[in-house]
Amino acid sequence: MPIKPENKTRYPKDWKDVRHRILQRANWRCEHPNCRARHGVTGYWRKGLFHRLPDVLWDAGYTAGDVVACENGEKLKIIKIVLTIAHLDHTPENSKDDNLRAWCQRHHLAYDAEHHKITAYRTRKDAAMTADLF
Ligand SMILES: [Zn+2]
Repeated sequence: MPIKPENKTRYPKDWKDVRHRILQRANWRCEHPNCRARHGVTGYWRKGLFHRLPDVLWDAGYTAGDVVACENGEKLKIIKIVLTIAHLDHTPENSKDDNLRAWCQRHHLAYDAEHHKITAYRTRKDAAMTADLF
């Protein structure tokens, strides 16, 4: 995930080094259980698993952003894996290794989605309570 400008100061000054160390620890693969998607590899998700783009599609000129229509009507979006660093506690200031995971965007987003739901609910609730005060 790109760091939001308003959160930039919450990351340690050596964040680039920290990020690189975590990616090396992960051997440049997603650390989420049952996912071994490798950083920089182009392919597609199908039934919850990442598949490398077959040579025949490379040779045909397919690349990230394209959609492949399968014979069975299924459409597969071709993507390039970008590993991101997730904070398990959602706190950028806590950049200890045991709080960090190298995850593909799919797994990072899924992990953060629950947190986003809770914080969005809190924001709405706080706004409603504030409205009740006036
Ligand atoms: Zn993953």
